[in-house]
Amino acid sequence: MQHPSKLPNIGTTIFTTVGNLARKHNAIDLSQGFPNFEADNRLLDLVSKAMHDGHNQYAPMPGYYGLRDVISQKIETLHGHSYHPESEITVTVGATQAIFTAITAFVHPNDEVIVLKPAYDCYEPAIALNGGVPVYLELKAPSFAVDWTAFKNLISPKTKMVIINTPHNPSGRIFSRGDMLQLQEVLRRTNILLLSDEVYEHIVFDGQQHESASRFKDLASRSFICASFGKTFHVTGWKMGYCAAPKHLMDEFRKVHQFNVFSVDHPTQRAMAEYLNTKEHYTHLNRFYQEKRDFFTKGVDGSRFICKPSQGTYFQLLDYSNITDEADTDFAKRLITDYKLASIPISSFNLNNRDDKVLRFCFAKKEETLERALDILQGI
Ligand code: PMP
Ligand code: GLN
Repeated sequence: MQHPSKLPNIGTTIFTTVGNLARKHNAIDLSQGFPNFEADNRLLDLVSKAMHDGHNQYAPMPGYYGLRDVISQKIETLHGHSYHPESEITVTVGATQAIFTAITAFVHPNDEVIVLKPAYDCYEPAIALNGGVPVYLELKAPSFAVDWTAFKNLISPKTKMVIINTPHNPSGRIFSRGDMLQLQEVLRRTNILLLSDEVYEHIVFDGQQHESASRFKDLASRSFICASFGKTFHVTGWKMGYCAAPKHLMDEFRKVHQFNVFSVDHPTQRAMAEYLNTKEHYTHLNRFYQEKRDFFTKGVDGSRFICKPSQGTYFQLLDYSNITDEADTDFAKRLITDYKLASIPISSFNLNNRDDKVLRFCFAKKEETLERALDILQGI
């Protein structure tokens, strides 16, 4: 029997491929983005309590109301935009499901979706599965700045959606207020939707502001804000996040959500609702991760890698063009096999796998792990 693939050009993700190689060679793993320290015990205890309190059956389809309510308060406090918890917030299986669901609910065959490259890897397969056509704007290392005139020129009558990601994986760049205002101007008076991937919303450095799309009235009216508790609370394995969008968009989103997952892990939602009530549980993260970024970037100083400190996320790019002109995939492989250090070659996020001679390192790690990695980097 022959079954034509719906994703003929897609293989195994770079995170799985590199992660497997790292384990095989017992390398220090700074590749896939996940912390190697534990989450707050209070959060773990709250999940256990929720289970023992009997919250073990299906949660309501859009999520436990108490959790949607605190998410709504959080967004209102931080960004001044009000999402009604009843009709405008849905709890999802990580940001990945929020993104997939928003795309599936709105993208029809031949609709165009503007994607800024380099891009996180889950957008394009979702567009392809729905028959959509990605239209690309390339951002160039090392600034990864958006040329908003070039962006505007990509808009056509077929443009259905734009996907942005700030703070940006893999570059660590954040969109400024100026970027968001330009985006708002270009989209004003169009029918174009915005999918704003904000999973690193609480990891922004040097006193800068995370410019959520929800802060901009016209953008908010057309946006899906996608977020991840996995990233925020050091529990990527729990795969829980949410989507916030105006009611008329959320109604369509939920039509897909209810038949895709129906509802999300109930005890964890109860725990998150309580944990999220304390602002400090997420407001301290900027400082917490900035210390890790600074530890990592200072440790790279004096090595042969070129480092422009990340503005947000828990990733740091390192340019190795002073060391070798090998392809980034080859150099990343050699770092694992010969030096026992794993990173992600960023060509895998780039348009046509453009090779900038840059690797991505995740610094969401214990200090001792980072120290061992830095020793290796200094020796190369
Ligand atoms: N978007 C970006 C930019 C990411 O880096 C990730 C990885 N966490 C996701 C979305 C997916 O998030 P989640 O693990 O909550 O599905
Ligand atoms: N978001 C993680 C990263 O960029 C990867 C998660 C995954 O493996 N899908 O490293």
